[in-house]
Amino acid sequence: MENIAPALLDWFYANRRILPFREDPTPYHVWLSEIMLQQTRVSAALPYYERFLAALPDIPALAGCEEEKLHKLWEGLGYYSRVRNLQKAAKIVCTQYGGQLPADYNALLALPGIGEYTAGAIASISFGLPVPAVDGNVLRVFARLYNDPRLVTDPQVKREFTARVMEHQPPAKAGDYNQALMELGALVCLPNGAPLCEQCPLGTLCRARAAGTALSLPQKTPPKARRITPVTVVLVLNEGRVLLQQRPAKGLLAGLWQPVLWEDTTLTAAETAARLAALGLDCTGAHFTPLPAAKHIFTHIEWHQSGYFLTVPEQPAPAGCVWAGKEQLEAAYTLPGAFKVYKKLLLTKLL
Ligand code: SF4
Repeated sequence: MENIAPALLDWFYANRRILPFREDPTPYHVWLSEIMLQQTRVSAALPYYERFLAALPDIPALAGCEEEKLHKLWEGLGYYSRVRNLQKAAKIVCTQYGGQLPADYNALLALPGIGEYTAGAIASISFGLPVPAVDGNVLRVFARLYNDPRLVTDPQVKREFTARVMEHQPPAKAGDYNQALMELGALVCLPNGAPLCEQCPLGTLCRARAAGTALSLPQKTPPKARRITPVTVVLVLNEGRVLLQQRPAKGLLAGLWQPVLWEDTTLTAAETAARLAALGLDCTGAHFTPLPAAKHIFTHIEWHQSGYFLTVPEQPAPAGCVWAGKEQLEAAYTLPGAFKVYKKLLLTKLL
C-alpha cells in the first residue's frame, strides 16, 4: 500500500470543517472536545462546548467547580461519568502538573477518563507528538482501505490496525494526519449507508472499493441485548413545586436528581401510595393520575417508565429529597435526559 498521507492531508486542508477546538487546539480544548464528542454528534456538542468553556475557561476553574454547577453545564449531553472524570482528572492535573496537561502520552493515559484514543488526540493535536489516535472512524477507514474483514472490536486486531495507521503517519504532521483520518471517516467514509467513494482522496488505493465490499466493513461483534427494566416514576406536587430525590453517589446517573421513583417494578396506585407513606410522605386525599409511558435507552439497559402524578398537602421534604419549583428545576437541579418527557410535562403543564 502506497503511503496515504500526502493525498489525505491535501484533502483535509481543503475540506476540513472549521471547528472551535481546531482553531485554538490547546490541550484543554482538545481534551474537552474529545470527551464531549465521545457519545455526542459535533453539531449537538458545539453549544455545550462554548458554554462550558465560557463558564470554566481553564483546568483550575474546572477542578474547582461546584458539583451541581458542573452537572448543569453537562445537562442534556448524558453519560455524566464523563464530566465527573473530567473534574477528577483536572484536580490531579492541578496538584501534579501545575494546572497544565502533561505533554506525555503515558501521563495523559493515566488520568481518569482518558483512554488511548483521547490521550493520542491530545498528544498529537496539541503537543505534536507522533502517536496514534484511533477511534471508530479510523478503524472503519482502515478496514475498508485494506479490505480487512477481521473484527475491529478484537483488541489484537485493533493493535494491528493501529500499527498500520502509524506506518502511514508523517511524524512532523501527526496531529493533522490523525484528524484527517477522523474527518475522512466522519465526512466521506461514512458509518451508516454507502461511503462517498467518488469524493474520497484514497479512492484509487482502496481495496474494499475495488472489491465492492465497503458496505460490509468494518466487521464488529454484535452489541449485547439490553436489559429491559420497568420503572415507576411519581411526580409528587405541592404548590407549584415537585419533589426531587438525589440518586446515590455511585452507579447509574450517580448524584443526579430525579422524581421519586422505583426501579425494576411497575407499581399500582395502591402500591405506590404505600411506598410513598413508607418514605414518610403524607398523601392524604391525593388522587393518583397515570403518567404517559416513556422509554429511555442507556448503553446496556432500557428503562420503560410509567407512573403517576399527585398533589399532596404542604409538608417538609423527606430525607434525601427537596421541593423544587420551576426556576430551580431549570437553573439548579440537573434532571438527566432519562426524564425529559416528565420534565417537559412538569415545566409546561404541572408547575
Ligand atoms: S474509497 Fe470509499 S470505502 Fe474506501 S476509504 Fe474511501 S470512502 Fe472509504
